[in-house]
Amino acid sequence: MKKIIITIDGFSSCGKSTLAKQLANKLNYTFIDSGAMYRAITLYFLWNHIDWENTGEVVTALENINLEFQYNPSAEKSDIYLNDENVEMLIRDMLVSENVSAVATIKEVREFAVAQQQKMGKKKGIVMDGRDIGTTVFPQAALKIFVTADPTVRVERRFKELFETNPNITIEEVKNNLEMRDYIDSNREVSPLRKAEDAVVLDNSNLTREEQLNIALKWAKEKME
Ligand code: C5P
Repeated sequence: MKKIIITIDGFSSCGKSTLAKQLANKLNYTFIDSGAMYRAITLYFLWNHIDWENTGEVVTALENINLEFQYNPSAEKSDIYLNDENVEMLIRDMLVSENVSAVATIKEVREFAVAQQQKMGKKKGIVMDGRDIGTTVFPQAALKIFVTADPTVRVERRFKELFETNPNITIEEVKNNLEMRDYIDSNREVSPLRKAEDAVVLDNSNLTREEQLNIALKWAKEKME
């Protein structure tokens, strides 16, 4: 079977990462969470008080950012390291979620992230999830999946996930954050969130994780033959 690139795009909290991780594990592929890169950059900007409206400051800051993924066997996926520090948990913080979409609109930030993402796909055998993976990062990918889910389902899923580490979080807060990120992601100038023309749509509102995985696996195997 030939090695391919699989892209998974869609709105926030549609279960893209869950699917990408399961798919990669089944196929023995590498899973890359591209959103983690934008989150880690945002964390660096926040920690270092970077004024991201100032292009010069952004460019200098990016020169000082080193992002790496290292496999974490207990999570069965890679954790992201920002300048040698594991920030996998810290990037899920609400403050990062509130600012990441604004940071991800910046052209220089996207060029920085996309160049590294494309390098990671050189050897194929990769599943990458994000917003622009099928359209901008790997327009030639063999399999492009666009995941959707009912907005209410998405808010509930995300709330449950965040509540585990932050019992003070409210449904309203989660809902507002998802709506804001989807709006900014879909309306930005550089690589807005779009379904690639040749992407297949997977609506998982009423699917279990196993059902959605089986659908995606079938699609992948067809492309790998
Ligand atoms: O995937 P996740 O929700 O963690 O991504 C966080 C944010 O990073 C998104 O809301 C979006 O603004 C940005 N992002 C992006 N392009 C990607 C992946 C994520 O703009 N490929």
